[in-house]
Amino acid sequence: MKCIKCGAEYPAQLLYRCERCGGILDILYDFERIRDRIDFKVIVARRDGMWNYRELLPIEDYSKIVSLGEGGTKLHRCSRLEDKFGIKQLYVKDETRNPTGSFKDRPISVAVTKAKEFGVNTVVTSSSGNAGASLSAYAAKAGITCFVFTPTNVALGPLSQMAVHGARIVTVKGSVSDSFKIAQVVAKKYGWMNVTSTFLCPYATEGDKTVGYEICEQLEWKVPQWILIPIGAGPLLFGSFKGFTELVKFDLIRDLPRMVGIQAEGCAPIVKAFKERTMEVRPWKNPKTIASGISDPLRGYTQDGNLTLKIIRKSKGVAIAVSDEDILDAVKLLAKEGVFAEPTGAVSIAGLRKMIDDKIVDRHDLAVCVVTGHGLKNPNRIMDMLKEPRLVVHGGNGLKRSSIMKILENRGDF
Ligand SMILES: *Cc1c(COP(=O)(O)O)cnc(C)c1O
Ligand SMILES: [Zn+2]
Repeated sequence: MKCIKCGAEYPAQLLYRCERCGGILDILYDFERIRDRIDFKVIVARRDGMWNYRELLPIEDYSKIVSLGEGGTKLHRCSRLEDKFGIKQLYVKDETRNPTGSFKDRPISVAVTKAKEFGVNTVVTSSSGNAGASLSAYAAKAGITCFVFTPTNVALGPLSQMAVHGARIVTVKGSVSDSFKIAQVVAKKYGWMNVTSTFLCPYATEGDKTVGYEICEQLEWKVPQWILIPIGAGPLLFGSFKGFTELVKFDLIRDLPRMVGIQAEGCAPIVKAFKERTMEVRPWKNPKTIASGISDPLRGYTQDGNLTLKIIRKSKGVAIAVSDEDILDAVKLLAKEGVFAEPTGAVSIAGLRKMIDDKIVDRHDLAVCVVTGHGLKNPNRIMDMLKEPRLVVHGGNGLKRSSIMKILENRGDF
């Protein structure tokens, strides 16, 4: 493990921050040594989802892997959106297909596997929904106890997932930054493993690398010009980019993609810092957006935002914000491609549209939008957005088919 700030190195262990400077820890691999042991032909022939890449994940004992079938998600070519946006090649990396309905299953699968390796029997997370839902399922599978600290407004989908898998749920009145703090204090006091999916748990972030590997593999080692990702603190963006940089070390690809981090206008601390050309992200005052999965003010851990910002710049990428209206439009556009995303998950599509309009993305570029979470997480929200989604008619004895036909015809869209 290496501190990204001061460079201090530590042997792999259960450690969250640099003991010297408090910096974020990153996992390093001895590529000289593992290079000969890794055969990508063998890797891609496996049928284990993201665990196809197990040699590149920080696991020592493969028998301890806790998996529900995460990763290995579809990369859809979206021809209808290509026409609409006027871009030649647009793909969606469909992370809605993970076992609990979001990409969080990747980092959580690695983190819970590490919990097994470390012999930990209680895990804890702070989460606005998906990470808590995921951890609850994986902890159940692993047979360990799970605590989830949530902010006040958690959608019913993830809340029911946490409840049914038997997590102990604690709702903290406030934002996700408040529940973050409490989870941290409690984990420390009782010696539980904290797998909160900011950059707190370095093992979790490693799971996100597999998004980068899979995109490259699915494009037959062609590198997209742009990877678009909804970002809260940004470990998914960081991890995906790390995945690409590792493939360069294995000579599988030469170029790197430009990483686009997208936030909602109502909570955009990283975008604000990007626009102001500073290195320092400041906490956001009043988060307000329908994209609940990225509604993170970063209060108390702005260094997480700084790291994501650094990666975006390093990749010659950009950070942009989109409105709630654009996000809901993106949900509808994705639905026309057969993909049902939650608002947060569709943020990448809203971002791409804006970048094409602003002529940042060229129509000849290849873009991959990561769609991070499933629409069934919060179906009420979706129904609210659709005007008159259904026609209600009477059944039973009085049913006259001809009268139903009449209603349909009068509706005009029959
Ligand atoms: C957590 C989450 C994100 C943000 O990912 P980070 O790695 O925390 O930046 C995006 N979309 C969905 C659906 C999420 O659950
Ligand atoms: Zn340090």
